[in-house]
Amino acid sequence: KKASIGVTGLAVMGRNLARNLARHGHTVALHNRSEQRTRDLVEQFGSEGEFVPAYSAQEFVDSLERPRQVVIMVKAGAPTDAVIEEFAPLLEKGDVIVDAGNAHFADTRRREADLRERGLHFVGTGVSGGEEGALHGPSIMPGGSRESYESLGPLLEDISAKVDGTPCCAHIGPDGAGHFVKMVHNGIEYADMQLIAESFDLLRGAAGYEPAQIAEVFRTWNTGRLDSYLIEITAQVLAHTDAATGKPFVDVVADQAEQKGTGRWTVQIGLDLGVPISGIAEATFARSLSGHAGLRAAARGLAGPSRAKLTGADAERFADDVEQALYASKVVAYAQGFNQIQAGSTEYGWDIDLGQIATIWRDGCIIRAKFLDDIRAAYASETELPTLLTAGLFRKAVEDAQDAWRSVVSTATRLGIPAPGFATSLAYYDGLRAERLPAALIQGQRDYFGAHTYRRVDREGSFHTEWAKDDRPEHPA
Ligand code: NDP
Repeated sequence: KKASIGVTGLAVMGRNLARNLARHGHTVALHNRSEQRTRDLVEQFGSEGEFVPAYSAQEFVDSLERPRQVVIMVKAGAPTDAVIEEFAPLLEKGDVIVDAGNAHFADTRRREADLRERGLHFVGTGVSGGEEGALHGPSIMPGGSRESYESLGPLLEDISAKVDGTPCCAHIGPDGAGHFVKMVHNGIEYADMQLIAESFDLLRGAAGYEPAQIAEVFRTWNTGRLDSYLIEITAQVLAHTDAATGKPFVDVVADQAEQKGTGRWTVQIGLDLGVPISGIAEATFARSLSGHAGLRAAARGLAGPSRAKLTGADAERFADDVEQALYASKVVAYAQGFNQIQAGSTEYGWDIDLGQIATIWRDGCIIRAKFLDDIRAAYASETELPTLLTAGLFRKAVEDAQDAWRSVVSTATRLGIPAPGFATSLAYYDGLRAERLPAALIQGQRDYFGAHTYRRVDREGSFHTEWAKDDRPEHPA
């Protein structure tokens, strides 16, 4: 029997995707550079469905129905190019190569253009949800041609997570659109994690809550509007006690956050596109700061404020204030991320449906949350929404939260507890709503030292002031 789809690259992600496909009744061809992984999969999980193991590229290709659909799930970067070059020459016009790894969208655009010339479809696909997601239903973000989605889409939708029967998978847009959206997903994930981490740090540092108590606070939050996978697992991590020492687990972990690079890409592309994704950037820099052990050791003795922690009723109320600050900052992070997707879509002509992105992030992925359904609804009622902050529901919630938000940021500042995510999100909110920004002064400075010219509020055109002359005459530039 021929397979309807094949997976090459059977490490944890590829293996689980292949099992997920087989469990849904699809016959799956299997291939991996080192044969042992293929043998292991068939040996351990062969009973879960129909697998067709292949031990050479040719055998793998021959085992597939046409149009052939080859899912590559190997290390991103050069290994992906190597595997594409291994299979592309063996495929025929109309066949589909799917890269489900974490590729940079620019690489995906390059590969897609190259393979399109050779008559093949190339689908760069974002997959989120980690290894458990891959097995039980991830959120899937496929790019590539519309035509490729006709054969591939039904299979991917079948194995994706579902919300009330709606798959967490949809065709995102041409060439690199899928990987771009996955990249921004990860950027938002960085911001969300940072904000949650700051909430923990503030509850402990400003109000004296213990990790186990904070776990309880998070559990309560998880029953409300913050209901999300990240809050849920945070409660579990905080409630965990280290077996060896009996201390809270969080206290025995080295406080240096690592990263695999998708947050960094998001920030780099944000800069390229000129989108102010300050929350995501701050979260990425916060990880980077945490990792600078030497720098931190050198600076540890610097003086901080001598202020007393919150006590009594203030400490009790603080958890509620932090919940509001977290919610408002989270709206900002998502607003920025969605604006970045919008900007990418415009720049590359992808025509991405933002409401659809929120729809497929509602389950399966790491940022899955009740919140995403509100974002879906916001875009459903206003497709040209300039920012989530002005959507009815979010506008009201953030306006209601702003006093608490400001109070939390000022408490953090007073006590010398770093809360860069909260602070930058609030600054973004205030920056957007400001009547006038000091950018006017910056334009004056630029014109002074570099004759960069400026526009006026009351007249059309560009102007330059001759700052070196005593009477500083102004003339059109
Ligand atoms: P790894 O990223 O650890 O990659 C290992 C796989 O790549 C193995 O099958 C390995 O083959 C193969 N490989 C590496 N180099 C080559 C090469 N030059 N030629 C052929 N095959 C090669 O595996 P993961 O399963 O963790 O991740 C797969 C992809 O999915 C990555 O792009 C990752 O970024 C992405 N991803 C991972 C997530 C996760 O939670 N882990 C979540 C979402 C996406 P061999 O067995 O022969 O060494």
